[in-house]
Amino acid sequence: MTNRSMALLALLLASGCAAESYYEKGIGKWFGRDPSRIGSPVWVQGPWPEIEPSEDRDQVIDQLCPALMHMPAATAGTHGQEYCGVIYSFQGRYYASWPAPLRLDPTSAGKDCIVPNDVRDNRGRVSVVGDYHTHPWRRSPMSEKDRWKARQRYSFRVQMDAACTVQMLIPHVHEDRPGEIYERRERRWVLIGHIYDKDSGTISPIKEAP
Ligand SMILES: [Zn+2]
Repeated sequence: MTNRSMALLALLLASGCAAESYYEKGIGKWFGRDPSRIGSPVWVQGPWPEIEPSEDRDQVIDQLCPALMHMPAATAGTHGQEYCGVIYSFQGRYYASWPAPLRLDPTSAGKDCIVPNDVRDNRGRVSVVGDYHTHPWRRSPMSEKDRWKARQRYSFRVQMDAACTVQMLIPHVHEDRPGEIYERRERRWVLIGHIYDKDSGTISPIKEAP
């Protein structure tokens, strides 16, 4: 084994262990499942202290990727871990929840984490406006499954990859208008596609998008 592959192996082992410890430290505290409800939905605790709250939703979104990519195995590709959380409002400000690494089937090769249904914030009743999740690869945009109508729970969803390319889907599920996909570029949302067939989530790219 070369030095380089040994170093890589050590890194993978370290990130695997760290991912486990975030899971072990956080389960039941920062995230968990509610077995008393159908499908044992995932809940997350909020706010996540890594993210400064703001009256501007985009200020919260812009802080997410750098913080999330420091999570264990968040950029580890095939050996990586995806994280799911929510963005919510409370008394006029936006907050992010802790990220949850919970998966539907931990034995499958798919990395997808489960979108949380609830956020728990000890200060009182909050309103969830969107969800966020990561992909552990570079150049990994929102997947087809990410865009399926059946997967949309909130008014928007944000997804980011290991290179911190951030995309936002506004599904407009209950409205008679196409869904929209945006990409964050220099602190602006650039419309890159429309979704006319909401069930399949197929993207019609915007021709003039740079
Ligand atoms: Zn995804």
